[in-house]
Amino acid sequence: MGGSPLVVPGPGGVRFAPSPTGTFHIGNLRTAWVSWKWAQALNEPWVVRFEDIDRPRVVPGALEAQLADLARLGLVPARTEVQTRHQGFHRSELERAAREGMAYPCTCSRREVQAALEASASAPHGPVAAYTGKCRPAERESHELVPGTAWRFRSTAPARDAIIGRIQSTGEFIPAYPWACALDDLAGYRLLVRAYDLEAALEVQREIQMWARGPGLVPPAVFHTSLIVQEDGHRLEKRTRGVTLAEWVANGRTLEELAEIFERSFVPVATDWRPGRVFGEAVRQRSLRDLGIRVKLGP
Ligand code: GLU
Ligand code: ZN
Repeated sequence: MGGSPLVVPGPGGVRFAPSPTGTFHIGNLRTAWVSWKWAQALNEPWVVRFEDIDRPRVVPGALEAQLADLARLGLVPARTEVQTRHQGFHRSELERAAREGMAYPCTCSRREVQAALEASASAPHGPVAAYTGKCRPAERESHELVPGTAWRFRSTAPARDAIIGRIQSTGEFIPAYPWACALDDLAGYRLLVRAYDLEAALEVQREIQMWARGPGLVPPAVFHTSLIVQEDGHRLEKRTRGVTLAEWVANGRTLEELAEIFERSFVPVATDWRPGRVFGEAVRQRSLRDLGIRVKLGP
């Protein structure tokens, strides 16, 4: 299983990978901030990769607004990437996987496929739903990509066979989050930073990466940040009112105050990083109050 060359060159870096599906909330901003701190600690470029493959959910202008919010906090990427630009690569890797019997067509109903996508993809980030394996061939067999099919990755356990994406009836390929992200994360990054809500996706993503690059691969290290929740344990959503940077400022708070709160809440230790290590903050979930953030949440 030889890996094919990546279209994305690999100049290192620490990556933060937001979906441009709305305005950042304090939790997103904190994950961005933590990734930026890591880049500084490791003396690596800080890379922002916009995961815009979930096109129906992408909000026009959100990418620019997210970059502007980051800049207001002093976070300026050395490089930005836009995931849809890599779609040819996402597709050619699917073709290769289908040829090798590592991807198989999934004939589950559109609804079932959609549910699997929503469980694994951009918000709402539920845990990755276990799959029954009902479409999985007993043996690895080669397949052609035909329009109007969804595809799954043949992982070591059928329950983890993630949706790779769908070939539309028009022939267009729409990759799903676990596939596009796992492949793009092979661009030579030293560290991926994301919140704990995506922890469940890691196992299959690493299987995809080992398949793509061959068993000699040391996959990029991953750091998980605490998931920031409301007092009642509800997650912050991009639609939660009261937790955007604009609302923070409108409530008379300063950007310096927010930066100080973030600064107090996390200090990277460069020696904690090792190639391929999966690690994260000690606390998986923290409320705004735990961080010392008092905001009035809207309805
Ligand atoms: N794009 C995903 C999100 O907005 C994160 C992807 C990742 O960091 O793996 O939550
Ligand atoms: Zn199926």
